[in-house]
Amino acid sequence: MRRTAGYQQVGWLGLTVQVPSEWDLVVARGNRFDGYLRFDEEAFTRCHIQWTLVSAGKVVLDDQLDRYLEAFERQLKKKGQPVTIRKNTGLVSRKDVGRNVRTFFWECGTVGYGLLWFCQDCRRAVLTQVYGYAHEDLKGTAKRIFLSLSDHQEGDWERWSLYDLSFDAPVGWDLTDSQIQPGKVRFHFRKGPWRITLERWGPASVLLGPEDNLETFVVKVLPQDIKNRFLLHCRSDDFKEHPSLHLKGSDKGAKRPLSVWWRQLTSGQPFPNFLGWLWVCPVSNRIYFVSGILPPAEELVLDHIARSVSCHPEERTDACGR
Ligand SMILES: [Zn+2]
Ligand SMILES: [Zn+2]
Repeated sequence: MRRTAGYQQVGWLGLTVQVPSEWDLVVARGNRFDGYLRFDEEAFTRCHIQWTLVSAGKVVLDDQLDRYLEAFERQLKKKGQPVTIRKNTGLVSRKDVGRNVRTFFWECGTVGYGLLWFCQDCRRAVLTQVYGYAHEDLKGTAKRIFLSLSDHQEGDWERWSLYDLSFDAPVGWDLTDSQIQPGKVRFHFRKGPWRITLERWGPASVLLGPEDNLETFVVKVLPQDIKNRFLLHCRSDDFKEHPSLHLKGSDKGAKRPLSVWWRQLTSGQPFPNFLGWLWVCPVSNRIYFVSGILPPAEELVLDHIARSVSCHPEERTDACGR
């Protein structure tokens, strides 16, 4: 097994945690009501985090934990090895994490530390387990993970961090779709009729051949419905000290009297604009595109998101991204 060199920050749907850099995020699913994250290291599950929103009523953690551990014990016994489960390990306390908390430990060939808590502020019940081998300092690793865990963020913005991508997203917008593949990451956010998309492609050195530039690239990746709906203009810029394009598009409907009349009758809202920042980061060798359909009053939201993207680690200055 590789030794733990450092920790990575992960942020997803308002939940943040630090786990060893060697652990890969292999499952990220759910929503703010129910969700699940899982980290593996070379096909061995290292950590999983589950959360559930308890909208009303009293949460009795002892009952919840007993019920969970009964089922978990039955599952462990299927391995045909002796099972030990201990509750109240004291690994972290209510004072440490600021929430009502229960801890447990188990051993059955491999070992694990668990934590169940309930947050009064966001009413999320969160179960976290860390798995390992008896010869490792799993206790120290589990404690560090538990102390880094938070189930909600303060303020109007939430930090998202995963797959080497870190950015702010505004609270109140919903993640409606995400796509994570080698060479391509995409997140769609929506609030009512407005939408924002954050995309990343790589490696840029392959995608932008000698015949290509950012203009030809954006023509390839822009969805047809955007090209049909908006009258687009773009200008070259220098965004984050990288070569970039700034796109702005006005809704063609705003020039059609019938569309204007219909809009005033139905929503009364101004026509939105299409906005986008596309840039190539030579350090990480990736292309980033933050774009959206927004009303004029919310255009700054898109600027904030684009500026918040960490496209390359600050300390790195070489051009060896993957
Ligand atoms: Zn919370
Ligand atoms: Zn960069």
